Amino acid sequence: MPARTGKQYLNGLREQEREVWLGGERVRDVTAHRGLQGGARAIAALYDMQHDPKLAGRMTYASPKTGEPVGLSFIVPRTREDLERRRDVMLAWARATCGMMGRSPDFMNVTFAAWAGAADYFARGRREFADNLLRYYEYLRENDICLTHSLINLQRSRTVSGVFNLQEGTALQVVRETDAVIVVRGARILATLGPLADEIAVYSPRMARHTETHSPFAVNFAIPCATRGLRFLCRDSFDPGRSHFDAPLASRFEEMDCIVFFDDVLVPWERVFLLGDVDLLNGTATHTHSSAHSAHQGAAKNLAKCELVLGVALLMTEALGNAHLPHAEERIGELMLTAQLTRACMRAAEADARLDEWGVMCPDPLAVESTRNLFMTAYPRMVEILHLLGSSSFLLTPSEADFKGPLADHIAQYLATDTMAARDRVKLFRLAWDIAGSAFGSRQVLYERFFASDPLTRARALAAIYPKREVMDRVLDFLARDDDNA
Ligand SMILES: Cc1cc2nc3c(=O)[nH]c(=O)nc-3n(C[C@H](O)[C@H](O)[C@H](O)COP(=O)(O)OP(=O)(O)OC[C@H]3O[C@@H](n4cnc5c(N)ncnc54)[C@H](O)[C@@H]3O)c2cc1C
Repeated sequence: MPARTGKQYLNGLREQEREVWLGGERVRDVTAHRGLQGGARAIAALYDMQHDPKLAGRMTYASPKTGEPVGLSFIVPRTREDLERRRDVMLAWARATCGMMGRSPDFMNVTFAAWAGAADYFARGRREFADNLLRYYEYLRENDICLTHSLINLQRSRTVSGVFNLQEGTALQVVRETDAVIVVRGARILATLGPLADEIAVYSPRMARHTETHSPFAVNFAIPCATRGLRFLCRDSFDPGRSHFDAPLASRFEEMDCIVFFDDVLVPWERVFLLGDVDLLNGTATHTHSSAHSAHQGAAKNLAKCELVLGVALLMTEALGNAHLPHAEERIGELMLTAQLTRACMRAAEADARLDEWGVMCPDPLAVESTRNLFMTAYPRMVEILHLLGSSSFLLTPSEADFKGPLADHIAQYLATDTMAARDRVKLFRLAWDIAGSAFGSRQVLYERFFASDPLTRARALAAIYPKREVMDRVLDFLARDDDNA
């Protein structure tokens, strides 16, 4: 099947009923549930972009198997041009969702493409794991499958070292093997997009946080979300069920986060890509460079988010007539700097990309991973800047219904500014509130702080690839210069 349409994606979700729980109730049709349907429609709209004549085929490439157009984020990049074309697609999707759906399907597509390019890595476990991986990647690409993933085991307490503290009865582990399947039991967090995905991938996070005692927990597999024994438990939906005017982002881009319970779930061997090998598990993201490829997707998302916040901030200061005040100028300058740094890192990662040992064109890891670390503190600061610029205007935000109510004339008269009509001002500030104040917006801040691991792990990830010796030697050379004079 070539690249899917939104309708095909939604039909796929309906046809495969998965076990989703939200607010104490089983959700039978995720595409029709009030708290989930907005997100489903948003993903459907991304799939529709693959067929938009205005985009003139830019979102797809010819399948190496059938020649049919398939989603370009599935490409195994071999040239810098491939990376740039892929970035264009990822940026187009990210802009369509204002950067608010971090788990749009391209996130997982680039990960599996990287793994397919480095399939021999999985053969180090067992030869057939590489074949499984390649077959699965092809299945994803040819059927335009939407994947969620769940990397983190629940822990009952934390170690000082940062190594996971995994315990039987909590963490996901393999409890049995047969000729046909492995059987897994336990819980995982946090499957963003879980109810809205076709399949779920289960593997391990980027940094080496498993020890040799973790062999029963060392696994990498993927199965349909509708697999028996798989249960998705949602947090509250942050889509308040209001109009796009009232909740411009939350009504559109709720991607949901879930705990996933695996109650003796059967995973066919052909869907297993790694088993029991802690070293291979720990090394997967760095040795296959999937971490750099998923960071490339993240960089596009971050740039779209920067553009949204900066655009909103500029319009806010225009509306309030404070754009010329020095404090506002300084804060806007900070937003511009973050946007530009994000863009620069993304472009540098492409410009300095190299063919890796697998023959895959890999974005420069340091440049592209930097965008992840930067955003953990930069995004909360961007939101703080919106607070500082907007002040009480965030709360001068009557609902759409109020514009038709008895106080409509008062609203129109008193909430207008020198530059903006009341309705436009309120509409803008309701958008700003969905970024900076609503439950939806708060979750975005939490997402950027943690989605790519906790701050310590991220700092270690960057330190592991930073050319430390180079800067140390530079200082040592300088110190040696003093010695020469003596
Ligand atoms: C909105 C959101 C969406 C997410 N989506 C996904 C997803 O789709 N798929 C997925 O797999 N995961 C997802 N995650 C999970 C994410 O990977 C984890 O939140 C992240 O790895 C941190 O783990 P944790 O939440 O268990 O934090 P914890 O380990 O509980 O950390 C909590 C705090 O304790 C600190 N801490 C913990 N251990 C140490 C230590 N040893 N030394 C010093 N400080 C320590 C941390 O720095 C942090 O400040 C998501 C998270 C969020 C918030």
